[in-house]
Amino acid sequence: MKITFLDLHKINTRFETEFQGVFQSFLDSGYYILGNSVTEFENAFANYCGVKHCIGVGNGLDALRLILEGYKMLGKLTEGDEVIVAANTYIATILAIKQAGLTPVLVDAEAETFGFDCSKLEQAMSPKTKAIMPVHLYGQITNMDKVNAFAIAHNLLVIEDAAQAHGAKIPNSKFQKTNTGYDKSSHFLKAGNLGDAAGFSFYPTKNLGALGDGGAVTTNDEELAEVVKMLRNYGAKTKYVNNLEGFNSRLDELQAALLLVKLKQLDSDNNRRREIAKMYLTQLSNKKIILPTVPDVDAHVFHLFVVRTDSRDEFQQYLTKSGVGSLIHYPIPPHRQKAFSEWNQLSFPVTDRIHNTVLSIPISPVMTNEEVQRVIEVVDSY
Ligand SMILES: *Cc1c(COP(=O)(O)O)cnc(C)c1O
Repeated sequence: MKITFLDLHKINTRFETEFQGVFQSFLDSGYYILGNSVTEFENAFANYCGVKHCIGVGNGLDALRLILEGYKMLGKLTEGDEVIVAANTYIATILAIKQAGLTPVLVDAEAETFGFDCSKLEQAMSPKTKAIMPVHLYGQITNMDKVNAFAIAHNLLVIEDAAQAHGAKIPNSKFQKTNTGYDKSSHFLKAGNLGDAAGFSFYPTKNLGALGDGGAVTTNDEELAEVVKMLRNYGAKTKYVNNLEGFNSRLDELQAALLLVKLKQLDSDNNRRREIAKMYLTQLSNKKIILPTVPDVDAHVFHLFVVRTDSRDEFQQYLTKSGVGSLIHYPIPPHRQKAFSEWNQLSFPVTDRIHNTVLSIPISPVMTNEEVQRVIEVVDSY
């Protein structure tokens, strides 16, 4: 039995008939940019996340960048301001900060949860620090109580990188950053509603994935929503009237229509991912393999199931030979990349250790129990 790391074809053919209907209506509409499907999806996704506003944009990187550009336009950020970000994040978070003319300040991670090491936040502060970007890496909401308490104490904007965490949720908390919180009565708050604004990606492999590129900004901040909506479309509120120096980063109309179909399946897909994760967490027993720490299963949507081992490369070769797909998320941390040569001498020991030991094993809503059992058998025989 061969188990691929992620079968995107199988994930998407579940919707084949609906997709075909959607494409026909899209074609027949004669309206291909920022049409009804984008608006409908924005409303549906805002509602899903429990936020007031959702703005569809071109991809996840742009979502994060446009939030930062938006805050610059509103005078809440200025070129050269510092933004605290996790050293072990995917490179997009850092690129968004740099492209917006701001300065990323990296903070080392915690090996167990892959989130910020919150004890290191204080020393990352300077008079120029204006924002913090928590990343819900691998689908697990990072320690938002601590991050928000820190942000409140230092008057920082909180911008979530929620690109891997569609649908993850935590109990409603007194440390909620936004006093504009939309759904105060709710017992849970979802990723995308845990700070001042959040960026999502709908890259095909994400828990809510398009059949191409896509992204969204979510926020309860009316002013920011309005600015981002202009920025994504050449800075115009009305066609050909350009209030701001904008960008071209719109959520594609067809992708929005497809995402509307898939959004209905998201909770059930996430639950299936949790079910598989529980099987891994309770049944895997190989002493050489360190399992992820999951304090709250609702706060995790298992975009990835990431284990650690000192013999990672050998373990991966063994899995490949045994017919089990795996990937490394990620092989090189941002501060070791050639693109950021100015950081190559910096030291983030936990981040380095994470990148040298992590391996993602298969998890997806379309995996069968037999496939899961086979992965467990193979991993435990290593
Ligand atoms: C996927 C991802 C992004 C970027 O999304 P794109 O749609 O590829 O631009 C940003 N941050 C994280 C953590 C991601 O996983």
